[in-house]
Amino acid sequence: MSQPSVARHGFATNAIHAGQEPDPTTGSVIVPIHATSTYAQDGVGGLRGGYEYSRTGNPTRTALEECLAALEGGRHARAFASGMAATDTVLRTLCKPGDHLIIPDDAYGGTFRLIDKVFSKWGITHTPVAVSDLDAMRAAIRPETKAIWVETPTNPLLNIADIAGLAQLAREHGTRFVVDNTFATPYLQAPLDLGADIVVHSTTKYMGGHSDVIGGAVVTSDEELDAEFGFLQNGAGAVPGPFDAWLTLRGLKTLAVRMDRHCDNAERIVSLLLSHPAVTWVGYPGLAEHPGHEVAVKQMRRPGGMVSFRLAGGVEAALAVCSKTRLFTLAESLGGVESLIEHPGKMTHASTAGSQLEVPADLVRLSVGIEDADDLIADLTEALG
Ligand SMILES: *Cc1c(COP(=O)(O)O)cnc(C)c1O
Repeated sequence: MSQPSVARHGFATNAIHAGQEPDPTTGSVIVPIHATSTYAQDGVGGLRGGYEYSRTGNPTRTALEECLAALEGGRHARAFASGMAATDTVLRTLCKPGDHLIIPDDAYGGTFRLIDKVFSKWGITHTPVAVSDLDAMRAAIRPETKAIWVETPTNPLLNIADIAGLAQLAREHGTRFVVDNTFATPYLQAPLDLGADIVVHSTTKYMGGHSDVIGGAVVTSDEELDAEFGFLQNGAGAVPGPFDAWLTLRGLKTLAVRMDRHCDNAERIVSLLLSHPAVTWVGYPGLAEHPGHEVAVKQMRRPGGMVSFRLAGGVEAALAVCSKTRLFTLAESLGGVESLIEHPGKMTHASTAGSQLEVPADLVRLSVGIEDADDLIADLTEALG
């Protein structure tokens, strides 16, 4: 239920207006929180606004879905209770027992866990591949491969997948191509325009942007896929409540300005890290020496707000920095207005220990917020010692 209702305006305009016309009955400029489970009918089947039950549809959720579709340049969007619920819906739609998936060799931990621990029980196999390696991707495709699934930039190493190149590869082999666009957001990159079939989001991160709500989304321009996503959205019921939908919609309004500030601040932090003697490696797609730099420049408006780095002092040094910052809060997650720091090896990516997806022990990940850059620089300088 999500034809974009606003003609295609600029990104920031769509973020504020798509799906969000003033309420026809009250004039309310902001979409109301429709806290209702059911809807009065004028005679049996006489639906007033097309709504009958809030698992199936809710006007606050519809507004969010229309906005998400407009921002991703897709025809349809579906909102979910979490990014994992969105991921689960897409995987269950695309795969049946005996099928095969290609996933990033540094996939989001929760995505890896779902595929490795749950979908494997149903006879769905997977091959982890470096998202930046087109030849390895091609080599991993089998007749039963139902999807190439990538994140770009990846988490936490910020590797870059060539979206247009992979879209072409998937087309040639008759398989679906899915992009988890959580790290970049549609402000920085538009996977559907570059040929992806499906975009998945954890709206918990930059889209909501204020670390106050969990949510997910699936966007596509494919009519049949959307119908299947809608069937599972209603049939399995992992929907966001109206307040969660409203919070996410409120966050989206400022996505463009927030992302520019995240990027400005990340660039300042990267300069600090590059010049610091305790730092042995800085991962940021904006750096010319980053292996994905050329592709990032081609497909991203800017390199984003995530920065990873490694320390000369190994795991102890990494853990020490994580415990010493004051403005950078030690916490999992990312994409909020406040800066966060974490140790992937012991936190977000602990479940990858001992597997092919294990991350370096001396790695620290930053989600650079939109505070004053000078304060962030001072905090990190102090913690690095
Ligand atoms: C957080 C995240 C998810 C999962 O989203 P939830 O909202 O936490 O369920 C999926 N992919 C990426 C890249 C993420 O960062």
